[in-house]
Amino acid sequence: MKKEPMLSVEEALDKMLKAVAPMIRTEKVMTLQALDRVLADDVLSFITVPSFDNSAMDGYAVRLADFTGDMPQRLPVSQRIAAGRPGEPLQAGTAARIFTGAPIPAGADAVVMQEDCSAEGDAVLVNKMPKAGSHIRRAGEDMRAGEVVLTAGTRLTPAHMGVAAAGGQAKIVVRPRLRVAVFYTGDEIVMPGESLKPGQIYNSNRFSLTGLLQRYGVELVDYGIVPDKLETTRAVLERAADSADLVITSGGVSVGEEDHVRAAVESLGQLDLWRIAMKPGKPLAFGRVGQTPFVGLPGNPVSTYVTFLLFVLPLLRKLQGETAKAQIAYPVAAGFDWPVAGKRREYLRARLEVSTSGELTAVIFPNQGSGVLTSAAWAEGLIDIPVDQTIKAGDKVSFMPFSGMHP
Ligand code: AMP
Ligand code: MG
Repeated sequence: MKKEPMLSVEEALDKMLKAVAPMIRTEKVMTLQALDRVLADDVLSFITVPSFDNSAMDGYAVRLADFTGDMPQRLPVSQRIAAGRPGEPLQAGTAARIFTGAPIPAGADAVVMQEDCSAEGDAVLVNKMPKAGSHIRRAGEDMRAGEVVLTAGTRLTPAHMGVAAAGGQAKIVVRPRLRVAVFYTGDEIVMPGESLKPGQIYNSNRFSLTGLLQRYGVELVDYGIVPDKLETTRAVLERAADSADLVITSGGVSVGEEDHVRAAVESLGQLDLWRIAMKPGKPLAFGRVGQTPFVGLPGNPVSTYVTFLLFVLPLLRKLQGETAKAQIAYPVAAGFDWPVAGKRREYLRARLEVSTSGELTAVIFPNQGSGVLTSAAWAEGLIDIPVDQTIKAGDKVSFMPFSGMHP
């Protein structure tokens, strides 16, 4: 059998992303419940933020014109303004006791922090000459009324939720959660809690994939373990595609006699089986079951994990209408040698350390086998080793933090 040339990671990802369109459904949710959701519309601020000049400090609001230049300057305290209460215009020759967040009284042009003052009965001694505008937060320095403060396609972080709320938005329009159907192929796979017969292994992929998908805020439709039989695989696939926006499977996508995912998908839709020039994770299947996009991940636990991060996450992002962003990767020093150049791009499970000379350095897990899931648990990210490249300790390598891949 003539083998197709291997695809690069970029080529495969590009083909996958081109084949799917973002969902168009929307729903309105409470801003308070919108963490990790993707905005369907731009969010405007209803108001100017701050909506009034206010004090950044506990202290005294003053008029610079009242300062003679001789310090300390004594000023009678004519009013007290706490947050949430507007004060009176500031009388000439006096100071207003003021607290953080309280409106600046008309006429005041600086706040002196209380650490630079001494209270003296009904007056205050200002020990330090204030500067114009000091410790005043200006109206509108954060947002303007009507301004777009968050753009459609943003996946909401805690700070985004706060920004929407500061602008007065109690509810926002987001994309619905993506429904993702998953199942796990393999006659050898059983759930932890059951006893293992000879030759059986536990379904670890169900746990790592569930965790990854939960982090991503999807609605999971889990069909569990499916035996290596064409008819069963086909039947479950059909149900999965009917119930979801995306179907993901684990295992069964090689071209062995026990790998039925390919034939099952082909009979219900269309499939590309790719050999990707990467390690771990060479075989990857992508296609459609009916109209539902389908991804068949390799069964080896590390391959499943890594191909999910590199291919499924960008796919989920696009399906949910999230604005595309480049994979986060930054240069660090290699704390290891990689003496043999490979024909496939390698994604090594790695951690960062600060070397004795203060340099950010990547160290790798000693066993990089694609079945060794402890390597992924130990790691904080992946080192991306290009094809045909050897690495000597101290060389710059590219580190992709797991934290930059999850939301
Ligand atoms: P496959 O892709 O089905 O050829 O599987 C490749 C390897 O991954 C085999 O050693 C399988 O036993 C293992 N494997 C497949 N599915 C799982 C799973 N759900 N959990 C853990 N290991 C798996
Ligand atoms: Mg299998």
